[in-house]
Amino acid sequence: MPRNTALFERASQTIPGGVNSPVRAFRSVGGVPRFIERANGPYVWDAQGTRYTDYVGSWGPAILGHAHPEVIKAVQDAAVNGLSFGAPTEAEIEIAEALVARLPSIEKVRLVSSGTEATMSAIRLARGYTKRPKIIKFEGCYHGHADSLLVKAGSGMLTFGNPTSAGVPPEFIQHTLVLDFNNIDAVEAAFNAHGDELACIIVEPIAGNMNLVRPQPGFLEALRQLCTKHGALLIFDEVMTGFRVGPQGVQGLTGVKPDITTLAKVIGGGMPVGAFGGRADIMEYVAPLGPVYQAGTLSGNPVAVAAGLVTLKLLSEPGFYDRLEAQTRKLADGLAERAENAGIPFSADYVGGMFGLYFRERIPTTLAEVSECDIELFKKFFHAMLIKGIYFAPSAFEAGFVSATHDDDVINATLDAAEEVFAKL
Ligand SMILES: *Cc1c(COP(=O)(O)O)cnc(C)c1O
Repeated sequence: MPRNTALFERASQTIPGGVNSPVRAFRSVGGVPRFIERANGPYVWDAQGTRYTDYVGSWGPAILGHAHPEVIKAVQDAAVNGLSFGAPTEAEIEIAEALVARLPSIEKVRLVSSGTEATMSAIRLARGYTKRPKIIKFEGCYHGHADSLLVKAGSGMLTFGNPTSAGVPPEFIQHTLVLDFNNIDAVEAAFNAHGDELACIIVEPIAGNMNLVRPQPGFLEALRQLCTKHGALLIFDEVMTGFRVGPQGVQGLTGVKPDITTLAKVIGGGMPVGAFGGRADIMEYVAPLGPVYQAGTLSGNPVAVAAGLVTLKLLSEPGFYDRLEAQTRKLADGLAERAENAGIPFSADYVGGMFGLYFRERIPTTLAEVSECDIELFKKFFHAMLIKGIYFAPSAFEAGFVSATHDDDVINATLDAAEEVFAKL
């Protein structure tokens, strides 16, 4: 029996579905997940010794490439001094200062250990600050797995076709309004109906959990205006896009300033770090200063923070994002060109180090359009590329990621493989 299969069968004995996060199980593409033994630069190696060019990048964090020597060294150096103290450290000040210096919308920031914690805490804070109960989220946007956000959520949820998770009582989501991404009229209508009850809008300012879907011109600006007008807070969930699409996330690209930003993924450099931050007067509602409770035994963990700090430092080298986006563009445009030559209905989009592949003629702007993609064709493409040693996200509803180590040779090898695969589709 191949070792990946043996490991998957063994894992399934003691771990639900054999995985610790559902999309890893390959359910939406079929087949056996690859058990990873090690990674370096743009590559991962599975338990059978097969090398793959990786376009998942741990779902976003691996922006410098896997096992970057400076990040590994920072982790090793931090680890020898002890793994966790449950007391403040100077490194936490440094990473807070680094985030505040980079994102003008953040005046104060609190560290957590995951994106889920960041969004959950940000929403509690928005409710505590505004003293209002209701929130708006957009269908297809994923904000982690807090109860009140598992309402027709995207990502794994969308893949499984479940509108909500079992185990979430209706009472828990009765204050969550779910609207269509890129539909300003719906947001206006919601504010007209519930304006003085709405605490916040939470949005992925570039959606990356229903494949990649950009905000249409004016959409984020309209959200900003409506929130300001009605006294609600605007939360940008930049857990995926933060330091991924550019040096200041989507807020830097668009100039739209949220009240609260949530971060994770890249800011931990592969270690568990999340954060939520924003205007000082809002952040001062968080305990111990204010009445909004929020805490974490491992929050600001010294080893994780060390990885995040050196990652942020390396990302601020001049020209980093221009170089990264040039490689992402080569991949996206190159795939689209080769698909067209083969007569495959396909389009691709990219921002910074993030890309979307769509098995339909035009780049989608709504979840409905994303749903029109040819999933069967995607599955065939996914498996044929995997056989050629190219690892894309095992779901048609996920964005993909390029790292600083995906150089021309790496991208060209992927394009050569794709040309052969498209020809046979
Ligand atoms: C990944 C993600 C989350 C959840 O982060 P976890 O660290 O997996 O809890 C939340 N929001 C967005 C936009 C994400 O991409």
